[in-house]
Amino acid sequence: MSLTMTLTGTGGAQLVPVFGCDCAACRRARLQEGHRRRPCSAAVKFNNAVTLLDAGIPHLMDDWPAGSFQQFLLTHYHMDHVQGLFPLRWGVGATIPVYGPPDESGCDDLFRHPGILDFSHTVEPFVMFELQGLRVTPLPLNHSRLTFGYLLESAHSRVAWLSDTAGLPDKTVKFLLNNPPQAMVIDCSHEPRPETPRNHGDLTTVIALNEVIGCPQVILTHISHQFDVWLMDNPLPAGYEAAYDGMILAME
Ligand SMILES: [Zn+2]
Ligand SMILES: [Zn+2]
Ligand SMILES: [Zn+2]
Repeated sequence: MSLTMTLTGTGGAQLVPVFGCDCAACRRARLQEGHRRRPCSAAVKFNNAVTLLDAGIPHLMDDWPAGSFQQFLLTHYHMDHVQGLFPLRWGVGATIPVYGPPDESGCDDLFRHPGILDFSHTVEPFVMFELQGLRVTPLPLNHSRLTFGYLLESAHSRVAWLSDTAGLPDKTVKFLLNNPPQAMVIDCSHEPRPETPRNHGDLTTVIALNEVIGCPQVILTHISHQFDVWLMDNPLPAGYEAAYDGMILAME
């Protein structure tokens, strides 16, 4: 049974290109579709079931018509991770389960007016659950509101999704040491900074973290236009790659 993860978005809330910005990365993204970055998200396919990991893409409903996916799995309730749910909730037909952290406020009026979305599937840190046979373990992250990353496991593969976060809590690092992922997709919004930024990762922090975790394939996501400019002139160390929209991770 193969596990496939398609990165449907690899940008932050600001996206690339940034409105009004004339930097080299934003200019390039306007000219070449392949360099655009939509809100950070993925589609995970396992056992012929599709899980949409975060829902920040505004035109989500056009890409994923009714019946093309089984559930949403949310990291947190910031707008750039949930805005696609706002029009979709007013759809008709079967209820769609939404798995995510027990954040009581959610986003705007989503919980008060859920429409066809079922937000009752809250998950707990380090308590594994299954989605059509895919094993999922919520991992606490460091962010400005309650946020979970997820370890996704099949019989032969293990991928960690770690966004949005600035570094990782010790408990999450310990868990990843005990359950080493073959690949991890991690928040690296910023080029190397002297200090870890408050809500998102920078390259220095991510490299220091992976010296402990030792994951062989580190995929950087939630990338800002400034980091894209930095990446134009600076190579990444071996084992690290910058994500791009449409990137596919195919595991066994
Ligand atoms: Zn975000
Ligand atoms: Zn720019
Ligand atoms: Zn966020």
